[in-house]
Amino acid sequence: MSTEFDVVVIGAGPAGYHAAIRAAQLGLKTACIDAALGKDGQPALGGTCLRVGCIPSKALLDSSRQFWNMQHLFGEHGISADNAKIDVGTMVGRKDKIVKQFTGGIAALFKANKITPYYGFGQLQPGKRVSVKQHDGSVVELTGKHIVIAAGSDSIELPFAKFDGKHIVDNVGALDFTAVPKRLGVIGAGVIGLELGSVWKRLGAEVTILEALPDFLGSADAEVARTALKEFKKQGLDIKLGAKVSKAEIKNGEVQLTYNDGKADQSLVVDKLLVAVGRKAASKGLLAEGTGVKLNDRGQIEVDDHCRTGVDGIWAVGDCVRGPMLAHKGFEEGIAVAELIAGLPGHVNFDTIPWVIYTEPEIAWVGKTEQQLKAEGVEYKTGSFPFAAVGRAVAMGEPAGFVKVIAHAETDRVLGMHLVGVGVSELVHEGVLTMEFHGSAEDLARICHAHPTLSEAIHDAAMAVDKRAIHKVN
Ligand code: FAD
Ligand code: NAD
Repeated sequence: MSTEFDVVVIGAGPAGYHAAIRAAQLGLKTACIDAALGKDGQPALGGTCLRVGCIPSKALLDSSRQFWNMQHLFGEHGISADNAKIDVGTMVGRKDKIVKQFTGGIAALFKANKITPYYGFGQLQPGKRVSVKQHDGSVVELTGKHIVIAAGSDSIELPFAKFDGKHIVDNVGALDFTAVPKRLGVIGAGVIGLELGSVWKRLGAEVTILEALPDFLGSADAEVARTALKEFKKQGLDIKLGAKVSKAEIKNGEVQLTYNDGKADQSLVVDKLLVAVGRKAASKGLLAEGTGVKLNDRGQIEVDDHCRTGVDGIWAVGDCVRGPMLAHKGFEEGIAVAELIAGLPGHVNFDTIPWVIYTEPEIAWVGKTEQQLKAEGVEYKTGSFPFAAVGRAVAMGEPAGFVKVIAHAETDRVLGMHLVGVGVSELVHEGVLTMEFHGSAEDLARICHAHPTLSEAIHDAAMAVDKRAIHKVN
């Protein structure tokens, strides 16, 4: 079989499989290499996102939410669900089935698009060659007119809290607990800490989250972060800010933590510890000597705005390069690079990439926060609207949160949309669309929104920018 391709992609995560499929659609002879194995020991395409990230975490968030609602929301609807029980094995098994369905789906898409998969570890060699150490130990060398590196990212390990897969875990372990831990400690109140902390809290664990920084969710809109923190505390998530952990020792099957709260050393004993302090580019062993591809001081592959590494024909996309570590950012970069390779005008608008945190309430945003605009000296106006005044949200028993629209003070162009509440993971795209089309708050306010829907919060928030919201006193 020929090992010469138009495009060789290293990594079949969101960024890599998008690049590979789009390249194949455009008539380019494409290979895609991936080293990952699934829980069954078989090759599993789809990267962190499909195997141990986006999809399995959302499966468990949805399962745990059903259980939580049964205990905390059903009553007000007049539905009693006494003696609700959970079977963690069934819940995790359901998650595994969904993962298998989607990783298998990528393999089927590769086949349908005539992409040649290679299962093993790829290393870029000088001269647009990639050597692949396959799972059976054999090595095959591929050449590509273009190479796209999409190696993704790995969890950051703390030197004093090494992962043992049993007591101290990262996302991989925390998606596969076999029983609800009585006490779960989490280091890091970021996206993974909040999402997976919520899963196990809803299922009955006592969850304590230790966050080193004094501010909660510093990159979110400050009002959104405050509202979310209040709701998380109501749910019983114990979030300690400004808590610097210095020790984590496994003793008698427990993890004994020492942290400083700014005043004194404190201790915390938990049954399981999830370390979720960020992720780092998976660049280890990826580049042989002499490729010319450079890494920055964070170990990320250096690229320009078009994902070019500076070495002719070598591109890099997704979590292994600068920018937010989000699957959909990787999707866009993968597609753009394939189109650029094919001579089309591929492009990613980094200003309109949405963020979503799938907690309860959900948190979502696109564009700039008020904090950022103030720091940049941009004059702006805002309009907010609470879900407590939205008929549909109240009918659902989900009145927490609000929508905030930020528009330029003079031009009225939408600069950001910040949401916290039920269903905002879907609603945020109204902000993305408006910003992508350079729309104004006035445009949003003039768009007819169906009643009763959650999206009416956006309509009223946009009207509130001009102090003419109908359903609140402006
Ligand atoms: P990856 O998905 O990491 O894929 C890289 C692939 O390359 C892997 O399969 C790896 O095995 C393979 N690989 C690496 N090096 C080599 C090599 N040298 N040779 C061969 N193969 C190699 N993002 C969202 O947008 N929404 C979410 O809801 C979300 N939830 C998440 C939940 C969790 C628990 C985690 C951990 C992450 C989540 N993310 C989410 C982030 C998202 O998973 C990543 O941004 C996304 O997977 C990055 O895609 P990628 O293709 O760049 O890399
Ligand atoms: P994160 O960057 O979101 O959060 C890490 C948190 O840990 C930060 O608040 C940081 O201040 C804190 N921290 C760092 N070192 C610490 C220490 N020594 N002690 C205590 N706290 C410490 O990282 P994450 O939660 O690990 O997630 C990694 C990335 O994966 C995210 O940034 C995101 O890009 C992606 N992700 C996205 C989603 C989503 O889109 N819904 C879900 C999960 C993960």
